[in-house]
Amino acid sequence: MTSEIISIGTELLLGNTINTNTAFLSEQLAALGIDVYYHTTVGDNPKRLQDTLYQAVKRSELIITTGGLGPTADDITKEVICEAAGKRLVLHKPSLDRIDAFFKRIGKSMSPNNIKQAYIPEDGMAVYNHTGTAPGIIMELDNCTIIMLPGPPSEMETMFLKEIKPYLQEKSPYTIISRTIKFFGIGESALESKLRDIIDRQSDPTIATYAGEGEVKVRITTKTVSGQAKLSGLEQVTGVINDRVGEYIYAYDDLSLEHITAELLISSPYTLSLAESCTGGRVSSMLTSVPGVSKSFKGTIVSYSNDIKTNLLGVKKETLETYGAVSRETAIEMAEGARKMCNAHIGLSITGIAGPDGRTPDKPVGLVYIALCTAEGCECFEHRFAGDRTKIQIYAAKHAINYLRKFLVKHIRS
Ligand code: ATP
Ligand code: MG
Repeated sequence: MTSEIISIGTELLLGNTINTNTAFLSEQLAALGIDVYYHTTVGDNPKRLQDTLYQAVKRSELIITTGGLGPTADDITKEVICEAAGKRLVLHKPSLDRIDAFFKRIGKSMSPNNIKQAYIPEDGMAVYNHTGTAPGIIMELDNCTIIMLPGPPSEMETMFLKEIKPYLQEKSPYTIISRTIKFFGIGESALESKLRDIIDRQSDPTIATYAGEGEVKVRITTKTVSGQAKLSGLEQVTGVINDRVGEYIYAYDDLSLEHITAELLISSPYTLSLAESCTGGRVSSMLTSVPGVSKSFKGTIVSYSNDIKTNLLGVKKETLETYGAVSRETAIEMAEGARKMCNAHIGLSITGIAGPDGRTPDKPVGLVYIALCTAEGCECFEHRFAGDRTKIQIYAAKHAINYLRKFLVKHIRS
């Protein structure tokens, strides 16, 4: 099935709102095996929206729009689509009752313009909105399905996952099976070049790479006519990828690095404490986003100043004077200090120059030391990250988490 997405809203064209709906829908449609060929963003303007629609119905079997289903005068999506399709808008009583009930539930009375939201095209199907008032709409035309979804991402995403995805799965003759493999420590281009031949050869399963911040994911997807399992192709490609670049793989699911690492930590006998300098608590924040980590995570000392490094963590003044705050020696004493102070099995520290100031002739912006200490000893890793302050902090935090993950994998398995 060929599809396209039309995002409606002047705020998107002005750059006031980042278009996250399109990214979400594209990923979801790809995972359903539906090809997305065009993304269009158009303002709240009837003429230009109509032009966009005329073009879309000529070339796509499925059109998904987001935005413009609200109660205000600039919400024009269904009015314009109905006019273009020669359909009338009719009151959908169950939607009106739901909108009324929604307002009663939040202790407000429905304003007259909310009634506009309960109108849907004749022959159209209203789609339940679990988190807001405007129903979505499905319109089956002769050669094309048009699905209208609300603009607010929380409403749109819930509606898509709960209502639209099952509808599209039902329509498709295929079952899609996909697997996501996540990598850390290898860039997208390096990964692609190692997998070039299998990416070039792909037809079924298909292989796509996606780059994130310091991470890459590969999605392998196979289409099967409903009921027929076709796992062998998926397994075979996974095996080849594993043989070639297995050392960089941290997950075979779409889970984050911090999630995988925190889960490993929780299932291990180890406890952790942190000493963060240039990351300012970012590692702690990432790990504590995972429920249940309190069992194993003792705490963080954000030791931004030398005073705190010395007074709280016990980093020696001589170490700071001789080697500097950004050095292998300081990183190790920070990790040791955090471990002892919090009475944890593992102490993990990060110290570096996130920039834009702070460089010295022999210490550039982006120089970061990460140390991991246990009662058995310490390891320290030196990195030189490129990019702005935020990027350097994110890279440093993720690398620190990855060292922790590698330590846990090695020690849990041995
Ligand atoms: P409402 O009932 O809230 O008016 P609506 O369906 O009419 O919903 P819009 O008015 O177009 O939708 O957008 C509502 C809000 O949703 C926008 O202010 C914007 O913050 C967000 N939004 C709309 N479209 C997108 C998009 N493509 N990506 C991210 N956010 C969006
Ligand atoms: Mg609106």
